[in-house]
Amino acid sequence: MDWIRQPAYRLVELFRSDPSKIVDYVDSVYDRIQRVEPLVKAFITIRSREELLEEAQRIAKNVDSYVLPGILVAVKDNISTRGIRTTCASRMLENYVPPYDATVIERLKRAGALILGKTNMDEFAMGSTTETSAFFPTKNPWDLSRVPGGSSGGSAAALAAGEATLALGSDTGGSIRNPAAFTATYGLKPTYGLVSRFGLIAYASSLDQIGPMARCVEDLALLLQVIAGFDPRDATSLPVAVPNYLEELNRLWHEEPRLRIAVLRSLVEVSEEGVRKVFEDALNKLCSRHECEDVEVPYRDQIVAAYYIVAMAEASSNLARYDGVRYGLKTSFEGRSWIDVYTEVRTKGFGYEVRKRIALGAFVLSAGYRDAYYLKALRFRRLLKEYFDGLYKRFDIVVSPTMPILPPRLGELVSDPLRMYMADINTVIANLIGCPAISIPIGFYNGLPVGLQAMSKPLNEVTLLYLGKELQESLGYANLVSEVIR
Ligand code: GLN
Repeated sequence: MDWIRQPAYRLVELFRSDPSKIVDYVDSVYDRIQRVEPLVKAFITIRSREELLEEAQRIAKNVDSYVLPGILVAVKDNISTRGIRTTCASRMLENYVPPYDATVIERLKRAGALILGKTNMDEFAMGSTTETSAFFPTKNPWDLSRVPGGSSGGSAAALAAGEATLALGSDTGGSIRNPAAFTATYGLKPTYGLVSRFGLIAYASSLDQIGPMARCVEDLALLLQVIAGFDPRDATSLPVAVPNYLEELNRLWHEEPRLRIAVLRSLVEVSEEGVRKVFEDALNKLCSRHECEDVEVPYRDQIVAAYYIVAMAEASSNLARYDGVRYGLKTSFEGRSWIDVYTEVRTKGFGYEVRKRIALGAFVLSAGYRDAYYLKALRFRRLLKEYFDGLYKRFDIVVSPTMPILPPRLGELVSDPLRMYMADINTVIANLIGCPAISIPIGFYNGLPVGLQAMSKPLNEVTLLYLGKELQESLGYANLVSEVIR
């Protein structure tokens, strides 16, 4: 049995008919990790085989009471896990072991899933390549000389390398969708407020969402089902009923509704040639079944600037807590001034990218600049939302490439920060306006994966999954595990 490539929804069926298989599955995935992890480096922390097998045996006794019995889930290292180190890929939290579980982790455990380990990421989720991690960069399983994207690069790489069946990421400006696109996996950023942020270590709270990552669209639906829903511990959590995503997806799949699709044409045009080619081919498929129309991207030159102003402003405030007293590195106070201690903790604890963003964030919030930058960005955010509200009255789905570039080589993008920030233009829109967005693998160019991004009006995740299913079935990019590494 090829346990490595099986989607979760099929594993669950198998385990229900023969629970003893859970142990075989856990063993095979663990063997695979031991083989490929030294090359990929997707994880910061991996739990021991013994611990996992023990849990697997306990779950196997009672498979019918769980939604995801025994399924191995890789969790981004900014999501709090009780008793398991949670570092945010930062020296600041290198030895932090949370005393509590994030809501999404509680829900995974209740569903019988096994928390496999904690995945590498950009430090505090600030970046697009997983290279700002304070520990090591993660490699793209499709080409080890390239990055897997970021900031949830470890989660995406673990999936593409066959080291996990499901994964959780977080997405503030594309951190789920970008690595999904770069690794030929599926990723969904839910509507703001659909998934609880309780226990997610904050980057920019008005933009952050936790979301599912997987190797097929059905698994995305299954994992979203488990983590979505109201949580009184998150003040921005939406008190809405969560649909049965898999059932709804199957219903749509049989009804075959025709969708009205808007194409963000100028975002296609500014994309790299390889991305454009693969995207146009996928779009042709879609447009033969659905109604497609090109639309303008308004204020194209302001989108990235507005995102980074808001994100950095909120980051500077959220990260103020790491002062060495309440949170963060511990150091001696003996005979030293407060400013000395504070400076030491924050210089040693934070990497360059994080310090830069805190400084810029504090600047745009400071007296005299607040109106010119921060408040203006907020007004812009409002305008952008109004424009898309209008679009969502006329269209069911808005598409573009997920990333305008192919996965870059290690070192290539981090050394060119402006280019790195600009590459977020397609993904940050959904965070600024709070709508859901999915990245779907649509092909390869010179062996490098390309993703299509689809956005919809808030709480319409089902339509995104339906589009994902349609592309998955017509193009066949499901359950892919890279053969580059063995
Ligand atoms: N690349 C974007 C940033 O650095 C998005 C990161 C994210 O979504 N966490 O802010």
